[in-house]
Amino acid sequence: MKQLDYDVVVIGGGPAGMAAALKAKEKGATVAVIERNDELGGILNQCIHSGFGLSYFKQELTGPEYAELFINQVAAAGIDIFLKTMVIDLNPEHQVKAMNEDGMLVLAAGAIVLAMGCRERTRGAIKIPGSRPAGVLTAGLAQRYVNIENRKPGERIVILGSGDIGLIMARRLTLEGMQVLGVYELMPYANGLYRNIKNCLDDFDIPLHLSTTVTNIIGHPHLEAIEVARVDENLAVIEATREVIACDTLLLSIGLIPENELSQKSGVSLNPRTNGPLVNETLETDQPGIFACGNVLHVHDLVDNVTLEAEQAGEAAADYALQQKAAATVKATRLADNKVAITISPGENVGYTVPAKLSVPSQKATRILFRVRQPMDQAAVVIQAGTKILYQSKTRAFKPSVMEAVVLKPEEINGLNGIEKTITVSVREVK
Ligand SMILES: Cc1cc2nc3c(=O)[nH]c(=O)nc-3n(C[C@H](O)[C@H](O)[C@H](O)COP(=O)(O)OP(=O)(O)OC[C@H]3O[C@@H](n4cnc5c(N)ncnc54)[C@H](O)[C@@H]3O)c2cc1C
Repeated sequence: MKQLDYDVVVIGGGPAGMAAALKAKEKGATVAVIERNDELGGILNQCIHSGFGLSYFKQELTGPEYAELFINQVAAAGIDIFLKTMVIDLNPEHQVKAMNEDGMLVLAAGAIVLAMGCRERTRGAIKIPGSRPAGVLTAGLAQRYVNIENRKPGERIVILGSGDIGLIMARRLTLEGMQVLGVYELMPYANGLYRNIKNCLDDFDIPLHLSTTVTNIIGHPHLEAIEVARVDENLAVIEATREVIACDTLLLSIGLIPENELSQKSGVSLNPRTNGPLVNETLETDQPGIFACGNVLHVHDLVDNVTLEAEQAGEAAADYALQQKAAATVKATRLADNKVAITISPGENVGYTVPAKLSVPSQKATRILFRVRQPMDQAAVVIQAGTKILYQSKTRAFKPSVMEAVVLKPEEINGLNGIEKTITVSVREVK
């Protein structure tokens, strides 16, 4: 069994893994990236539509173009890349076990970056009644069929869920000559980005049915029809509205779940609100020296945000590994003795925050990411410690599909020492 030593080992070679690896390398660490696929790029390789990189590169790129800019840099940076290699185990001592066609590999790391991305929720997650025919698949799998394997999922398509992947696929399948009968969404608002509703549905006359869901799946061995029904404000089915629609394919775009089996094996605690690891302001988990970024940490809206977050994780991982190597003063990047741990708690209309913890006093600004639970037209972000308001934003509209970011300056949080142990992030209606 081969054993290799690195300062930083990155698990996952998608946009998060590549950006983290580049940053760690730039800081002087020896770095390895392990990727189970036969190429780097992650989910971007199947996203051939444009819309990537608008904020990071200030240009509109396709997924593969965005990935390529990083793949080229990784290749030139002297980072060791293990492709077609699957990490199967990770322990709190930073020992990574992986398998590839040559056999088992063990990598010992000063620090680890978790960047394994996420997977799609399937039919089982929402328990749609009915038969179990062929023709029911996730939107991302259909995307892979069409964009990579040149296969057609069907002819008459219904999409359940208005997440971005479903919207993108509604347009893609229409362009490939399939008939997309409609997108059905349980909630009274769309879950995808506004630009995708407009560019992928409105521009192609594909109807979006809000407050409507799939109540039955009909046909065996292949899908023949689905039953849909409207729901009331309590999401209960309105019986009189049940309607059967003939179709041969049902695409599910009903959410993504961080891929955290490995994180759990390493003993990392998960945040029940994100299903990703609980992290502090350096994106370090509660296992010292194990960091997380990208969709494995929380599901992002835009890849540009993934890249920024991953750079932060890569830098912190390199700092941790190099400081540990140089002076064995692990505490230098962790909670030093004179620091106070503060919990960041989601308040009114906020689903989660990343990070969920920070330590003060801090020399650096802290970027807090979060999503609102429901759309609000006139609202403001309020961050407070007890009754003290630390930050208040301007009044504007908020949507659950958009990831929000607030940067707290050191002077806004350093006064907290020891007095308040929790700060709350809320988004409040402004009348
Ligand atoms: C259909 C779709 C459309 C999108 N459209 C847009 C858009 O228009 N604009 C935009 O900005 N963003 C878009 N995104 C979002 C963007 O693609 C993601 O935010 C981004 O790819 C997440 O990066 P990641 O590195 O965290 O995860 P991923 O890209 O999923 O990469 C994770 C990598 O980890 C590897 N891995 C996992 N487990 C292991 C293991 N055990 N061993 C080895 N390797 C492992 C996987 O093989 C994968 O390559 C879209 C996403 C999808 C799915």
